[in-house]
Amino acid sequence: MDNPIHRDWMYNRMLGRDFNPAWLVGVKHFLEFAKSQRDYLESRQIRCPCRKCKNMRYENPEKVHLDLLRNGFVADYWCWTCHGEEENDNLNNNNNGASSIQFMDDDDEINEEYNNMKQENSDVRLARCLPK
Ligand SMILES: [Zn+2]
Repeated sequence: MDNPIHRDWMYNRMLGRDFNPAWLVGVKHFLEFAKSQRDYLESRQIRCPCRKCKNMRYENPEKVHLDLLRNGFVADYWCWTCHGEEENDNLNNNNNGASSIQFMDDDDEINEEYNNMKQENSDVRLARCLPK
């Protein structure tokens, strides 16, 4: 799997009987990132990525912080797609993020499908926020 190494902290919540300091710092960064997104600026709420809410519930950042302390992150949420992050942004820096999905150029049918996908990209991303 392509687990970005810089997000290792996400699933290292505890260090012995205490919270892992790296995790606490990471959560702070996560909340700051989420709060810089349009979702939050418009609604003052963000999706809660804790293991119970699974990005299905909107909460204010203080509640999300508490939930994360209590429950930890939902599994495999390496890429914060429900919080405005483009998939593979941080995995593939040469790509500028924009063209992270690429198909063979010599297949028109697939290209067409790709164009459709691009148009529906926002819907696709929303769908990804639902539990599998
Ligand atoms: Zn929650």
